[in-house]
Parts: sequence; C-alpha cells; structure tokens
Amino acid sequence: MIESSAIEIIENADLQPFTTMAVPGRAEYFCRVDNQQQLLQALDYARDRQLQVTALGGGSNLLLAADIVGLVVQLNLIGIEASEFAPGQFHVSFAAGENWHQAVEHCLQQSWYGLENLSLIPGNMGAAPIQNIGAYGVELCDLFVSLEAIEISSGKLVVMDKQACQFAYRDSIFKQAYKGRYLITQVTLLLSSVAQVNIQYPALASALEGTEPSPEQVSAAVCRIRREKLPDPQQIPNAGSFFKNPVIGAELLQSLLETNAAMPYFKQPNDRAKVPAAWLIDQCGFRGLRSGKVGVHQHQALVLVNFGGTGAEILQLAEQIQLAVQERFAIALEIEPQIYGLPS
Ligand code: FAD
Ligand code: NAP
Repeated sequence: MIESSAIEIIENADLQPFTTMAVPGRAEYFCRVDNQQQLLQALDYARDRQLQVTALGGGSNLLLAADIVGLVVQLNLIGIEASEFAPGQFHVSFAAGENWHQAVEHCLQQSWYGLENLSLIPGNMGAAPIQNIGAYGVELCDLFVSLEAIEISSGKLVVMDKQACQFAYRDSIFKQAYKGRYLITQVTLLLSSVAQVNIQYPALASALEGTEPSPEQVSAAVCRIRREKLPDPQQIPNAGSFFKNPVIGAELLQSLLETNAAMPYFKQPNDRAKVPAAWLIDQCGFRGLRSGKVGVHQHQALVLVNFGGTGAEILQLAEQIQLAVQERFAIALEIEPQIYGLPS
C-alpha cells in the first residue's frame, strides 16, 4: 500500500465487490476520493506516473472483461444543494457520489418532483449523464440543467449544459467523443414542487389504472414493478439491460412484420421504430438459458446474470445472442454497459 498525502492508493485492488455483475477483476491502482481536493490529488498521482484513469461509481453499468490497467478512481463526493430560482422551481445540485435512488427519495421527501419514474435505478449521480439514464418514459435529459466535471488530462474544471452533453437514447458525448476524458463531479437538475405525473408508459399505466397518483405513488409503483421483474444484483449479480433496444428503419420493420406479426415495436421520430431487445432474445430461445456459470434472466431476457462466471464468459454468451438475433432478425444488438479490460 502506498500513502499519497490524504488519498490512499491501493495496488492490485480487487474490483469484484465494487461491481454489480461481480465477475473477477482487479485494478492496477485504486483509490477512493471523498472531495474535489482528493480527486485532484488522484489525478496528479496518475499524471506523474502516466497512468490511465478510469472512473468508478456504483459499478452497475460496467463489465470487467479483464483487469483494468492504470488508476481506478471511485468518486464518493457527497452533498445535495438546492436553490429556488422561480416560485416552485428548484435547481438541485447533487455531488457525483450521491446514490441515485436515495437522491430520488430525498427529493420526494422535499416535494421536489420529476424523478419519480427513475426510482430504484442502481448507481450514483455522477454516472447518470454517461448514458442519459432512463426508465418508464423519463430520461435524465428531461430534467438536466448542467454538470461540473474535471478534465482528467489537465485537472481543469468545466461546466457543461444540456446541449454540450449531446444526450440521446442511452447515450451522451461521454460515451462518444469525450469517452474517458472527464470525471463528472456534480449534476444539477430542474425539479418542481408542482407535481406533473407521467404514467403513459404501458407497465405504469396498467399498474395505476383508474387512479390519479401522486409522485410518491408513481415512485412506489415503479419500485414494485422493478422488484417483480428485475433480479436484485445482491441476490443474482447483473448489470441491468445488457443490450440497448435497437431502433430500426421503416423498411426493415415492414419486412420483419411480414414474418413476425406479433413483434412489438414503438414508433420513433424519422419513421423509425424501437423494438424491445428482450423480445428478440426471447424469440431466439435464450430467456432463462444457463450456460456454465452465466445465463439469461428468466423474467427479463435483456438481463445477463452471473452465477460465479467471468467477464469473458458473459461476453461469450452476449456474442452468441448477438449472432442469433442478427441471423434471425438482421438486427445488430449493441452492448449497453461499458466493457473494461479488452485490448484496445
Ligand atoms: P458505474 O457502473 O460505476 O460506471 C458506468 C460508466 O460510467 C463507466 O464507464 C464509468 O467509468 C463511468 N462513470 C461513473 N461515474 C463517473 C463519473 N463521476 N464521471 C465520469 N464517468 C463516470 N440504467 C438505466 O438507464 N435505466 C434503468 O432503468 C436501469 N436499470 C438498471 C437495473 C439494474 C438491476 C442494474 C444493475 C442496472 C440498471 N441500469 C439502468 C444501469 C445503471 O444502473 C446506470 O447506468 C447507472 O447510471 C450506472 O451508475 P454507476 O454509478 O453504477 O456507474
Ligand atoms: P418493458 O416495459 O418490458 O418494455 C420493453 C421495452 O420496450 C422497453 O425497454 C422500452 O424502451 C420499450 N417501450 C415500452 N413502452 C414504450 C413506449 N410507450 N414508447 C417507447 N418505448 C417503449 O421494459 P422493462 O425491461 O420492464 O424496463 C422498464 C423500464 O426500465 C424501461 O424504460 C427500461 O429502459 C428501464 N430499464 C433499464 C435498464 C437498463 O439497465 N438500462 C434495466 C432495467 C429497466 P425504453 O428502454 O426506451 O424504455
């Protein structure tokens, strides 16, 4: 163990307990930072030794295919601040290490509404903009105002607004041009004390049919549906949806519907359609399948589960699924979690 002023750098650290997929994997160097000063110290440490830096939040959207080279920085910055910039309208700033679901609950307690459909998503605030988290008809970008981040190479603080983040479906500039370039330290959202419930999403609409639910009731319904359908990573390790739902063009949609009349789809802008990847995977016979020590969840075919296997085994199963879906439906499924340890 090496002491570096206030931060503690651990060599060859075990990352398995820090990820919800819980496959074996280590970090060449690892440190936890609790404040901005420690974060800058960690970046200095990495710069001095020319180490690549990888951010870690709650570890719920990544897969360790092998060990991570360089310094893994776990961001544990804590704090929530709110300012009322217009009657009933709040800018609420969350430090990167705030747990997402606890933050949602805190906001509900304060009567700051808007996040209720995003209840029970695992992980931390700092990672939420990375893939523009979304569920039950709401996405982070619907509430997003700005974020603060530190550029890894220079240690400089930047502020980015919604446009700069280039949010899209489970995507942002941080998965594209700015991949691995910034550590997000704070996220500011626009919340309102005036409830505007959104229960159009089919599963939510049927759960709350005939009621005029409060935001608290929407949150409770979302939690109930999620607990019924999704495996708890504490019981069965997983990283949530392993593939994005594909968005396909009108021509492919038409040709697929000719032979698969029951295929569900949701119309999108520009004459495109989103097809639930879980349905495609189920049709290919993978739902509930177990392959060695990894498998596909029984109730949600989009979730790959780990029964004590490795990241390589998970990726092998993912590849089999991708090949089967490609062959049968001519659709390329894109992996959603960030994969670490692959040769670049
Ligand atoms: P991590 O897994 O730690 O990191 C994910 C990526 O973000 C990595 O590339 C990491 O380097 C980077 N990163 C993390 N923190 C920072 C930071 N501060 N600055 C810069 N980069 C950073 N996602 C949804 O969108 N909707 C859902 O409904 C949903 N449901 C889920 C259900 C389950 C059971 C599970 C296991 C996952 C689910 N997810 C869902 C995926 C996941 O919870 C989210 O993507 C979440 O935002 C990841 O947060 P995290 O802190 O765990 O990120
Ligand atoms: P579901 O209700 O079975 O629906 C299947 C898919 O169809 C969803 O993924 C959803 O896409 C799409 N869909 C449903 N209704 C839609 C509509 N009205 N308009 C457009 N698209 C629609 O989904 P689920 O698996 O139980 O998940 C419920 C919600 O939680 C979804 O929003 C899902 O994205 C989210 N979730 C995400 C993860 C993750 O790790 N990313 C894990 C679990 C759950 P969308 O994905 O765009 O909503």
